[in-house]
Amino acid sequence: MIQRISTIEEMKAVAAGLRRDGKSIGLVPTMGYFHEGHTSLMRRSAADNDDTIVTLFVNPTQFSPCEDLEKYPRNLERDTAMADEAGASFLFTPDNASMYPAGYKTYVTVEGWSSRLCGISRPIHFRGVTTVCAKLFNICAPDRAYFGMKDAQQLLIIKKMVRDLNMNLEIVAMPTVRESDGLAMSSRNVYLNPEQRKAATLISAGLTEAKKLVEAGEKRAEKALEAARAKLAESPLIKIDYLEAVSEDTLEPTQTVEPGTLIAVAAYLGSTRLIDNLSF
Ligand code: AMP
Repeated sequence: MIQRISTIEEMKAVAAGLRRDGKSIGLVPTMGYFHEGHTSLMRRSAADNDDTIVTLFVNPTQFSPCEDLEKYPRNLERDTAMADEAGASFLFTPDNASMYPAGYKTYVTVEGWSSRLCGISRPIHFRGVTTVCAKLFNICAPDRAYFGMKDAQQLLIIKKMVRDLNMNLEIVAMPTVRESDGLAMSSRNVYLNPEQRKAATLISAGLTEAKKLVEAGEKRAEKALEAARAKLAESPLIKIDYLEAVSEDTLEPTQTVEPGTLIAVAAYLGSTRLIDNLSF
């Protein structure tokens, strides 16, 4: 049966105890409201490690004041049952006041990369993500931490932080889990009304168009992006935030699509912002 832990002190003591006993620890950081994307990470971690710690923390430092921190969906009882079923040993649910007590001052930033793509419309987002992940890595002392490729920029930034700061864990990337119509699963999909939900399928459909073109031999990034853009334009409900082809090594735009190229998209449906990507 999964054990819920809410204090940092207890979580640190439990993790230290596991390590003393020679157990391997897998970590799955989340903001909750689980779907199959989350549970795929948990299952993989449970298969790879003796114990899996799932963290559930809606991290305030990665939300700008105008964003959805307050209304972010929550369901602790359902999440606990899903994490249990997926094989997690612990669900760590710290509160804001203990993660960021009065006088908190320390932030971790992967410079440059945090200002690209999603970082343009969400300028403080990745600083919050890297800071909270660094804290969770210190508290939970994992051997491995699992992240979804759905959040491709986040994954690249976390890997970079771990390399640059010589952190002692392996980052494991897991494929994007999708609804049957292609929409990438996201806790934010619940914000969509039925018309927006229908239009949202054009995001992954656009990426599929780009992929088809590249597989047919097109190497020019602009042509692949054009194909995706044309698909997204099929619904007036979709407003593109960005659609770019970048190198996974630098996050800089690329002219050609080749192995190591990421086509990433963010789009608004009403006030809901969804992301998706395709890695070549
Ligand atoms: P979140 O709770 O949205 O912060 O996500 C927690 C973790 O689950 C992150 O590593 C995400 O990349 C991952 N994740 C979210 N959605 C998906 C998905 N559809 N497929 C795979 N992983 C996902």
